[in-house]
Amino acid sequence: MPLKINRINCLRDNYVWLMRDSATGQTAVVDPAEFEPVRARLAQLDWKLDYILNTHHHSDHVGANLQLQDAYGCTIVGARHDIARIPGIVQYVEDGDRWHLGESAALVVDTPGHTVGHIVYWFEASNALFCGDTLFSMGCGRLFEGSAQQMWASLKKLRDLPDQTQVYCAHEYTQANVRFALHVDPSNKRLRERADEVGRLREQGLPTVPILMEVENKTNPFLRADSVPIARYFGMTPDSAVDVFAALRALKDNF
Ligand code: ZN
Ligand code: FE
Repeated sequence: MPLKINRINCLRDNYVWLMRDSATGQTAVVDPAEFEPVRARLAQLDWKLDYILNTHHHSDHVGANLQLQDAYGCTIVGARHDIARIPGIVQYVEDGDRWHLGESAALVVDTPGHTVGHIVYWFEASNALFCGDTLFSMGCGRLFEGSAQQMWASLKKLRDLPDQTQVYCAHEYTQANVRFALHVDPSNKRLRERADEVGRLREQGLPTVPILMEVENKTNPFLRADSVPIARYFGMTPDSAVDVFAALRALKDNF
């Protein structure tokens, strides 16, 4: 049975994902930015909280770790690499680990780049990828700690996940991302369709995620650094994908 997944809006543009394994009733929250919105939603759903899954150590992702641990006695899970940086962590995972929420299994994948300890959780049977600040709809995380080479390798791992994977990222950055995507990839028809859809959704105050990996693979310039149109924008060829990716990231940083 697939996970039940709830979206909680936090801070300015953070999405906190709350999930429940139907078979066992076990629950987990991904990257709780704030305490009160999570507490309120748990109360409304009449759910307890068993786990916190952290993707990385930034404060807008671990902000409510300790308060939630105090209130619910939940277990905090994060990357072994970031033991020193994730508040309250007691369960360490690393690349290739299978982590279980009741009967729902997640594969842990290392995705360094935004931070060096960044990980993502892929619940294959539920087609759900919780990717923190590595992949956004039509964008990717800034390179605060890792190199372009690392981030490109991380994104390639994610784009190879099945097309039907739903991308649950940690921020609503889509509208800014789509403006940049159209700038570097103006002849992409699928991108223009997605841009229209995003405009309609945001006009109504609706979220633009989760989004299918299949759509991301066709519209996200950061996943397309080895495509002819994106490489050509920078006067390069698809075989220099790392350089194209680095150029894309640098241009977007100041766009
Ligand atoms: Zn971050
Ligand atoms: Fe963030």
